[in-house]
Amino acid sequence: MQELIPISLVAEYVFCPRSAWLAYVAGVFEPNEFTVEGEILHRRVHQRGQGKRSGKKQWRKVPVFSCRLGIVGYADMVEEIDGQFFPVEYKKGKARLRVSDQVQLCLQAMCLEEMLRCPIETGFIYYASSRRRLEVDLTGPLRRLARKSVHGFRELIRQSAPPPAVLSPKCHGCAQCPACMPETPTVEGRFNWEEWLT
Ligand code: SF4
Repeated sequence: MQELIPISLVAEYVFCPRSAWLAYVAGVFEPNEFTVEGEILHRRVHQRGQGKRSGKKQWRKVPVFSCRLGIVGYADMVEEIDGQFFPVEYKKGKARLRVSDQVQLCLQAMCLEEMLRCPIETGFIYYASSRRRLEVDLTGPLRRLARKSVHGFRELIRQSAPPPAVLSPKCHGCAQCPACMPETPTVEGRFNWEEWLT
């Protein structure tokens, strides 16, 4: 059986492959104010447990997996309305559909499809700061990107050194910044990752 990989790290790979490599292969992760804020939001959401709201059944922190894709994780919430299931992902910050968040939601949906044996074509991302829920189409191009990202992440974790840093606005607030040192591109030449990993 192929190695099970966490859905959250496939999403991280879409956000920045270097960050995903540092977290999975090198085991580097230093929480910062943004990750702690996200963690608090998720704890709050998960604590509410199972229930019914406006005619919808809701389950929180649902473990999901796909043997076909070799992925595992949690859906923050799964809703059921008239026999149709919808994954809901919670994010801190303002409503802005990021590709990495959509891939995360799509992979959760693909897991649920395999587990529940029913098609899931729509999901939602709830943005805590805006208190808005945006609908995501989980079919077509997003699904292809989600599959491609799982394969890309598997390739990435076979590498003995991380991809080079690419300094961009994403680096602001990235928890891997102290280990990554994106402003010092020559660091790769001086740092022996293989030696560090053994
Ligand atoms: S600091 Fe920038 S380049 Fe480095 S891991 Fe984070 S997002 Fe990627």
